[in-house]
Amino acid sequence: MAAPHASFRDSVDRMFTQAARFMDLPGGLEEKIRVCNSTYTVRFGVRLRGQIQTFTGYRSVHSEHMEPVKGGIRYSLDVNQDEVEALAALMTYKCALVEVPFGGSKGGLCIDPRQWDEDELERITRRFTYELSRRSLISPSQNVPAPDMGTGEREMAWMADAYKRLHPDDINAKACVTGKPLAAGGIQGRVEATGRGVQYALREFFRHPDAMQRAGLTGTLAGKRIIVQGLGNVGYHAAVFLSTQDDALITTVIERDGAITNPAGLNIDALRGHIQSTGGVRGFAGGEFRENGMAALEDECDILLPAAVESVIHAENAPRIRCKLIIEAANGPVTADADQILRDRGVVIIPDMYANAGGVTVSYFEWVKNLSQISLGRLERRHEEARARLIVDELERLSADTGLNWTLSKGFKDAYMTGANELDLVRSGLDDTMRVTFGKMKDVWMSNPNVTDLRTASYMVAIRRIANVYRSLGL
Ligand code: GLU
Repeated sequence: MAAPHASFRDSVDRMFTQAARFMDLPGGLEEKIRVCNSTYTVRFGVRLRGQIQTFTGYRSVHSEHMEPVKGGIRYSLDVNQDEVEALAALMTYKCALVEVPFGGSKGGLCIDPRQWDEDELERITRRFTYELSRRSLISPSQNVPAPDMGTGEREMAWMADAYKRLHPDDINAKACVTGKPLAAGGIQGRVEATGRGVQYALREFFRHPDAMQRAGLTGTLAGKRIIVQGLGNVGYHAAVFLSTQDDALITTVIERDGAITNPAGLNIDALRGHIQSTGGVRGFAGGEFRENGMAALEDECDILLPAAVESVIHAENAPRIRCKLIIEAANGPVTADADQILRDRGVVIIPDMYANAGGVTVSYFEWVKNLSQISLGRLERRHEEARARLIVDELERLSADTGLNWTLSKGFKDAYMTGANELDLVRSGLDDTMRVTFGKMKDVWMSNPNVTDLRTASYMVAIRRIANVYRSLGL
């Protein structure tokens, strides 16, 4: 599936360098920011099915200009050092761009999780955690993993528990990973966070007519035709929110076994149910099936939303892509070569480091919750409600006393007098992050004649921030 040329890490490096050439960074600093600090490779054995099975795992630390460093752990047979380093670099830039106070890291384990049962996966995960912990590559203050492809809440709960057993006196042990289940110290809204962030990013884009004009788009998200590649955690949540809350049409979903198309819009929940029960999109009654899924990336649409692996849009298929806007829900779905081709063709790309930053943003909220040992909103919620009630009661009293006889609608009163719970606060924080960040990228995009795309703009914002940290450290 990957493009047959430059590696993923080369692609990320090229994009970085393209942006850095518009900045006057002091000699050596550009190189210091770009290179990956260290990558640890571990091979460990676990006795399973009557013999010792050997697994290869990685944890790469791209930049420690802020600590802890942050980034997911991927379980896939395709995991390799180049990929982990590229993904760690993207984490550095992503965190800097959305002002999440972390450096960048990424991990991976070469494993097909479907080949092992739950007990086996638990033993493998606990053993991997032990290896990482021995080198401080999992730690609330130094390195905080999270879910990525092939991992989720379950794996994070195992890792948190394994870490706690190794460090029973660490009161912050829970903060050693994010993306945990609620019962194990997780936060509301983390599972949906990356998909929710994609929705907020698109909503924000559609609030800016000058940005829309560059993509040749008008109107609102309602009725826009979207092709989604990959209906995993990120693609599913983005597709369901955009179709049910913004009235966009998900016209095609591309999955492992092919593509399913319905010009009137697919029912995403029904499709997800079908995938869960049959293992693919083939045979779904609500659309037309095509075996050659990747060809569907080239179908005409308004928005293309790749939400699976890296390098799916490359030099070979980029000239045939027929959308106006690409939103990179996955990390690195467009190679540097394809990026250049699409830019020349006037396709606007909302880059990964912004578009999929919802996950790490809500991870940050979870980490803060764990360190503060209290859920968001617990202290303020009822106080906020009481103050809202004071105003409502006073308004009603005034209106009766003065004979105006206003009546406040029940809908207004209920909404106004309901204090924010944890999920409300998480969504509010995420929405704010996506809006503020878009503004920063757009300023560079629109004001600098050299900058013709959002990716270069996003790198410039991120690099500037990292450079400032290094400068303040005297480097
Ligand atoms: N794996 C996700 C990403 O690529 C989340 C990382 C995190 O929450 O630390 O952004």
